[in-house]
Amino acid sequence: TEFFGEFGTGKSQLAFQLSVNVQLPPEKGGLQGTTLFIDTEGTFVPTRIRSMAEAQGLNPENALQNVYWIRAINSDHQIAIVEGAKDFVQKHGVRLIVVDSVTSLFRSEYPGRENLASRQQKLNLHLHSLLRLAEIYNLAVVVTNQVMATPDMFYGDPTRAVGGNIIGHTPNNRVYLRKSKGQKRIARLVDSSYLEPGEVVFEITTQGIRDPQE
Ligand code: ATP
Ligand code: MG
Repeated sequence: TEFFGEFGTGKSQLAFQLSVNVQLPPEKGGLQGTTLFIDTEGTFVPTRIRSMAEAQGLNPENALQNVYWIRAINSDHQIAIVEGAKDFVQKHGVRLIVVDSVTSLFRSEYPGRENLASRQQKLNLHLHSLLRLAEIYNLAVVVTNQVMATPDMFYGDPTRAVGGNIIGHTPNNRVYLRKSKGQKRIARLVDSSYLEPGEVVFEITTQGIRDPQE
């Protein structure tokens, strides 16, 4: 699944919440598993995981230990982490892999049109190795992708008009996030291979991602 949207739309917050929720037992919607959290922007916040865990009735310290955080320093490192994750995933009961953000290092290392082809090729291979892990080990993969809103987006379909859509159609589900009033956000499912398109409103609260309180 890809979460894409402008800065501050809650992509990282959703990734943190999922890293906590995956630890819950199945009857509470979890998978009783751990998370491999690949952080490419240095925006992982341990205290946020603790407070989201506490709000879900989990032990905050245990919950944080169940999120295996790794900082990717460049795109080759990011690729290598995923290529080398097989044994780790099995050994540590990983049921969710997060890459937050999957595109930023590629964007900065391969700027401009002249690098477009090599950037796309590398990114596509990377997305496919993530997909392979998902299929072989039956785990969820969530990637984030920051996109800029362009003035065009006020005309026609915004999910088509946003710039920097460089992920293409590899994800099974793409969720477009946009800001609403205050801490409210709108999530629109687009391009799903098995779900109907749809929209929901959610809110970013101190407890975490919640249904909006009116
Ligand atoms: P970027 O593209 O810059 O990475 P993002 O989509 O990842 O942005 P997030 O960092 O997930 O954005 O979301 C930022 C929002 O989350 C802000 O509106 C902020 O107020 C809210 N937020 C962050 N921490 C908390 C918290 N502890 N309690 C309540 N809201 C929070
Ligand atoms: Mg972020």
